Amino acid sequence: MAQRIAILPEIITNKIAAGEVVERPASVIKELVENSLDAGATDITVEIAAGGRRLIKIMDNGHGMSREDALLSLERHATSKIKSDSDLDGINTLGFRGEALPSIASVSRFRLASREANNQEGTEIIVEGGRVKDVKACGMAPGTVISVEQLFFNTPARQKFLRSAETEAGHVGDTLTRMAISRPDVAFSCTSDGRELLRVQRSDLLRRLSQALGKNTAANLHEISASSNGISISGFISAPSTCRSTTNAMFTYINGRFVRDKVIQHAIMQAYRGVIDRGRYPVVALFIELSPGEVDVNVHPTKHEVRFRHQAAVHDTLQTALEDLLRKSPWLTRQPPPTVPPAAPTISQAYKERIAAAAQTSLGIAPRPDAPRFYPAKDTKPVPVKPAATEAITVREPDTSFQPEPTPSAPEGYFSSLKIIGQFHAEYILCQSENEMVIIDQHAASERVAYQRLRQQFENNAVESQRLLFPETLELSFAEVAAARRFSNDLTRIGLELEPFGGNTVIITALPRLAAAHGGTRLIRDILADLTSLSASSAFLDARDNLLSRIACHSVVRGVHQLENRQITELLRAMDETDFAASCPHGRPVSHVIALAELEKIFKRT
Ligand code: ADP
Ligand code: MG
Repeated sequence: MAQRIAILPEIITNKIAAGEVVERPASVIKELVENSLDAGATDITVEIAAGGRRLIKIMDNGHGMSREDALLSLERHATSKIKSDSDLDGINTLGFRGEALPSIASVSRFRLASREANNQEGTEIIVEGGRVKDVKACGMAPGTVISVEQLFFNTPARQKFLRSAETEAGHVGDTLTRMAISRPDVAFSCTSDGRELLRVQRSDLLRRLSQALGKNTAANLHEISASSNGISISGFISAPSTCRSTTNAMFTYINGRFVRDKVIQHAIMQAYRGVIDRGRYPVVALFIELSPGEVDVNVHPTKHEVRFRHQAAVHDTLQTALEDLLRKSPWLTRQPPPTVPPAAPTISQAYKERIAAAAQTSLGIAPRPDAPRFYPAKDTKPVPVKPAATEAITVREPDTSFQPEPTPSAPEGYFSSLKIIGQFHAEYILCQSENEMVIIDQHAASERVAYQRLRQQFENNAVESQRLLFPETLELSFAEVAAARRFSNDLTRIGLELEPFGGNTVIITALPRLAAAHGGTRLIRDILADLTSLSASSAFLDARDNLLSRIACHSVVRGVHQLENRQITELLRAMDETDFAASCPHGRPVSHVIALAELEKIFKRT
């Protein structure tokens, strides 16, 4: 019988391992930066071209490698970080599997150069698709430089899964952000196609968070420090008002390693239960330290998941620590430091010019042709801005949500024909129609009306937008910035305009008119969070209804809200005018009818 089974050549096993560890440029960067950190580097520089598809280059000032070690490092299962089985129970380094370098080198054109400080020269090794092509001495500063060109050039199936350069660069930025937050004592910088993506000096955690997440977010963070049951917890958590629609700003680390763990996330959400709306997530940077024997990081090749020996203890310790801090509501008592002069923001000249430009356009004057527009709306028609005479300049107060546009010529429809009884609990409108009592959820109804209007406007070209007199600035994540750029034309169609303002900061210059009165920060964060998962404009069209319903949701006041009769009449009229389905865009009912007969039954009149 012919032999069927063969042991695979190493070049193939490396490619298979690469399938698990190397998903995209960002995962290469994660592995290489982890190596740099394990090598004691205090300064790490990253360069990428075409989102890392063409080039990824990492330079560090770590302890470097000798010629022998450099050659060994490219062998599978070659590591300096563990020596025996028992070491697996006490891992103190980020790496230990000895897989990253050979895996990456097997699916790219790879160059490693490394020098130990006590050596006069370094060693350079060139590898192509896993085959060593050249080994030679080279002059270089102590440390290690690795460049990875044409990732997946020999695995076309994988290459197909890579997204656009912008999307990949966004992932790289997010990966580096996670690592930079974990090590404020290390300087990081990254350029993408020559443009600076990130640069952070060595500092402390709060300053690092302020650089990574933005000053506004950092100002609402509160320090946490607790330890019990052999578990120590430190870091910062946000006030409930500083929340997001995704878990993207939940940075959680176990023994210095970024993890996305269900137990940890559940504990955090339990602590915030009751102070944060459903579907919202806090901003946290939490460092959980426990004895390495208490946690198994060898669950998944990317090590994003872990297993705890005493899961319940970790969960409860974390939840209690957060609850203790949240119960004190430090955000309610915190005083601004006395040295800071009250409300004297230093507004840059550029910002002043932007405000002036925006003010002009909102008054109906055409924008200055030289006003920078980083996100050109190439193939969309200009957004209809209402004529100057009727255009209100938004200063962010007047509540227009219950003032649907008067439509005097509207034919009398079902809702307009109702006799208004009044308002119940400032949340429901009670009406009468012949033998029925009609109860309307005013919030759901307003949302439905807004949604229908937005859809109509979208179909007629673009959602009406309103320029802001005082544009808001907003600091975003890398993935969000990439999404903003990728969908800038589509965003214009739903009435949103953003302009870059250096780094990851954008200026919100225009908002959908219906939602403008409520400010744009939350709305834009929510919309961009939805968009980060989409890749193409066609996907945007599929997501359109969701996005419009997000805007609708942001355009109305929630909870109790006293209405005047005039406002109720207008709402009822608007309900007739819109192609009205009996539920809000989220699928909740808008109105409910109780027949007289039902009441008669209740009161035993029949
Ligand atoms: P692991 O990190 O799991 O040990 P890798 O394949 O990532 O496996 O790296 C193999 C070895 O190469 C490491 O154990 C380390 O000794 C060495 N090495 C890799 N990158 C660096 C670096 N930037 N500086 C110094 N040594 C490095
Ligand atoms: Mg490694």
